[in-house]
Amino acid sequence: MPNILDGKKLAQEIELILQQAIQSGSEVANRPPGLAVLRVGNDPASGVYVNYKEKACNRIGVRSFAKHVKEDIALEELLEIIQSFNQDKNVDGILLQLPLPSHLDEASLLRSIDPDKDADGLHPMNLGRLIKGEKGPRSCTPAGVMALLEKNEITIEGKRAVVVGRSILVGKPMALMLEAANATVTVAHSRTKDLPSLTRQADLLVVAAGKPNLIGKNHVSDNCVVVDVGIHRLPTDPKNLRETKKDKLCGDVKIFEIEDKVAAYSPVPGGVGPMTVTMLLANTVDRWQKHCGLPLTISHLLP
Ligand code: NAD
Repeated sequence: MPNILDGKKLAQEIELILQQAIQSGSEVANRPPGLAVLRVGNDPASGVYVNYKEKACNRIGVRSFAKHVKEDIALEELLEIIQSFNQDKNVDGILLQLPLPSHLDEASLLRSIDPDKDADGLHPMNLGRLIKGEKGPRSCTPAGVMALLEKNEITIEGKRAVVVGRSILVGKPMALMLEAANATVTVAHSRTKDLPSLTRQADLLVVAAGKPNLIGKNHVSDNCVVVDVGIHRLPTDPKNLRETKKDKLCGDVKIFEIEDKVAAYSPVPGGVGPMTVTMLLANTVDRWQKHCGLPLTISHLLP
């Protein structure tokens, strides 16, 4: 039987540690950690994710400064909002929910976030720190994958890892984190030829292509560890585009085809998704401890 990489359970365990860290530091800090989540426009999936993040903040005692602005907001106005969060002493982490409407320049907005409050690890300075192996906030989804692998005692050193996807949000930082943990890493992308023959060489396969059911039994070797980052909502009624509770979630991997073959896999839902939110909280609490001069008690949870 394969080992199921249970992100939901691990996320709960980590949340408990974060909650205790907040309780024990709040008196000295004289304030709770603060996370500002900035959402632009009405992308429905973003709405769902922002909602999860706010709920998670409330669960563990992080103060949430959510800001939802209209789709046609000007770049300058958004930059001013980010500046105000940069200067706000009660804000330890800032997250700009992606994707943004097409008229906005994502790169300049991410660059305008104070790198020290960069809860999503996407500021060029923090990506540079990742490349150089220096400490700094790390991208939440790949950080969550690393925590999931570590918790399940999956050895990374010396393993042949294949990451499918090269986005700046997931694929690229994932590859760098695995390499930093001494895996030999290959990155596949939409122009990769003969994906199955490449992924079959992997001891560890991380899939972040954003393509439902892309990976099946022909893509994996026996005893591979498969981490499915993809998340897709398949409407039960394709004519009704509004989300309903009956919608089925699936990932980039056809789990039913590979589950008897592999050594371990992460399910969708309940795998990487909950870990992403938890690592966002962990980054925020870590920043808060740093900003308030508290002992850095949770930094071991971050890659
Ligand atoms: P993206 O669209 O920015 O990047 C997708 C990458 O996959 C690209 O680099 C592309 O070249 C590659 N790709 C696309 N089709 C491919 C194919 N057929 N073969 C090989 N490579 C292919 O997406 P992203 O932001 O990196 O997200 C990827 C997936 O992960 C999405 O489903 C997204 O919803 C999900 N996601 C989940 C979480 C989570 O918390 N679980 C967090 C972030 C993203």
